[in-house]
Amino acid sequence: MSYQNPVFIPGPTNIPESVRKACDMPTIDHRSPAFARVFKPAVAGVKKVLGMAEGEVIILPSTGTGGWEAAITNTLSPGDTVLAARFGMFSHRWIDMCQRHGLNVHVIETPWGKGAPLGDIAAALKADTGHRIKAVLATHNETATGVKSDIGGIRAAMGDHSALLFVDGVSSIGSMPFDMAGWGVDIAVAGSQKGFMLPAGLAILGVSPKAIAAMETAKLPRTFFDFRDMLKSYATGGFPYTPPVGLINGLAHAVQLLDDEGLEAVYARHARIAEGVRRAIAAWGMVPCAVSPDLYSDTVTAVVVPAGCNGTDLVQLAASKYGVAFGVGLGEVAGKVFRIGHLGSLTDVMMLSGLATAEMCMADLGWPITLGSGVAAAQEYYRNGAKEAAKAAA
Ligand SMILES: *Cc1c(COP(=O)(O)O)cnc(C)c1O
Repeated sequence: MSYQNPVFIPGPTNIPESVRKACDMPTIDHRSPAFARVFKPAVAGVKKVLGMAEGEVIILPSTGTGGWEAAITNTLSPGDTVLAARFGMFSHRWIDMCQRHGLNVHVIETPWGKGAPLGDIAAALKADTGHRIKAVLATHNETATGVKSDIGGIRAAMGDHSALLFVDGVSSIGSMPFDMAGWGVDIAVAGSQKGFMLPAGLAILGVSPKAIAAMETAKLPRTFFDFRDMLKSYATGGFPYTPPVGLINGLAHAVQLLDDEGLEAVYARHARIAEGVRRAIAAWGMVPCAVSPDLYSDTVTAVVVPAGCNGTDLVQLAASKYGVAFGVGLGEVAGKVFRIGHLGSLTDVMMLSGLATAEMCMADLGWPITLGSGVAAAQEYYRNGAKEAAKAAA
């Protein structure tokens, strides 16, 4: 890897210089009012990014995976039933975690490349007349396949069922629209190293009043992640143990950057960059793993490679020869795809360099593409996209 090159993996993402500087701070006493001055703006900024109207933000020294664990252990009891669709590596891993915690997971098997199946979810909940299902788990953006799911649609499909709705937004929050209040999400899970543009190290959760109430009766064991301890300490501006103050200061700065750009503009930038990537892929004669345009993720694209080609070869060559990182295919799609991450701190111009690198690798590997074809398609789109934006601003 070259430290000069941006990364094109779907997390960790590129860290803006000013965010790195914000993470680098002297030691402060986290039991003094100085900590609240760092913590409060971070929490307020996260509330805005999550689209929260009520409830609490909980920040844990962990990663997205720890955020999943905190969500389930704070709200559920051994033997509880949860409902989840499996359509990629990340939805699979959350299901696996629930099973390892002794939960009874009602799994809806869904082909990779598709999103959460609203009809099946509605049917499962409708059939559950005794309300044994305590939570519905949804992966907003399946990072393995580049598929987004309709979270508001899932809430609507739940009807008047009493189950909580937990959403893994690790690779969407901060880069794609997220509306916790509007969609009726009970717990949203994010990590610091994707849309928030920070190093790994924080699990960031939005928790609804209903989920907070569930923590009083939940019997799954937890100590380090116990929401009760967190909320008791937060009430006095503190933390139940030593917080990673530098990362939290970085978070306060990162949410300020997102707010300065404007969340709508951040989402539009991601949509534009992603569309340029998709046009490049089409020019290569390839297709995304996501089976239809309504499912296309604006943060990561899994590119299906031509028959006889291996996506992992491209990822390895890009790293060894050009010092550039792309994502390999995971699980069922290992070798069949390579992934282009396009989230976080990224511009059209940075993205063009990634597309150009992918083309060089394809040519080196003897794949059937014409150098410059995908780059030209993205350039055309970005030029016109920029023109449209300038017109709108004038
Ligand atoms: C990255 C990712 C995770 C895992 O997060 P970690 O921070 O690596 O623990 C979970 N879910 C999705 C959708 C992801 O993209």
